Amino acid sequence: MKDRLINIDLKKVLENKIDLILAKKLKSKPSTENKDEVYQIKEVAKMRKKCTDYITHINNQEDKIYLKSRHFPVNMRLFKTSSEYKEIILAQCAYIRKLALTKNDGYKKPHGMSSANLGLSFNIIGIVKERNTSREYCDIMINPEIKKRYGDKVDALSNCGSLTLPNPIAIKRFEFVRVEWYSEDGRIHDSAFSREGNSFTIQHEIQHNLGILITDIK
Ligand SMILES: [Zn+2]
Repeated sequence: MKDRLINIDLKKVLENKIDLILAKKLKSKPSTENKDEVYQIKEVAKMRKKCTDYITHINNQEDKIYLKSRHFPVNMRLFKTSSEYKEIILAQCAYIRKLALTKNDGYKKPHGMSSANLGLSFNIIGIVKERNTSREYCDIMINPEIKKRYGDKVDALSNCGSLTLPNPIAIKRFEFVRVEWYSEDGRIHDSAFSREGNSFTIQHEIQHNLGILITDIK
């Protein structure tokens, strides 16, 4: 029941008919349940308005293609041979890093960021390390690819800046992943990550650049 209400609200939020909906709801039945719903609509509208300055959102027609498509790999041959191509890629890495470390007004501080979230089309992600400490930084992964998933499949509560769900949802995630990627200096890496080492965030961001959203995962 709750989910159904939220879905309808999101659609109406998209249509920018919030004032109309709220006026109608308040007039029809001023119950506690009604107040909760009104509060939720207002919160979702607020989140959506503030996030969309930088972050793609599934409710925006222009943004959908970035959230629903498989992203192109950075051409590592050109990255090494063309200094101008490398510059373009490194500028995108810097942009991803900057926004991974920025708290948007309408959403929690990110754990990671993908090019899908920022309307960029190469497969690059940023993972925030030492989050909420003075040593906080963002690791960039170019062309990250999961080579192996293993360990237990566990429930992870997840939300997404490109969905701004009113409440996090439970997603099944593997505890460990082995990932291959390039760093900004062009070197290739191959490492395993545990849950403590951000394996959930890595899975979330890599899936973004494959066009998969948390609401698509069964
Ligand atoms: Zn996300």
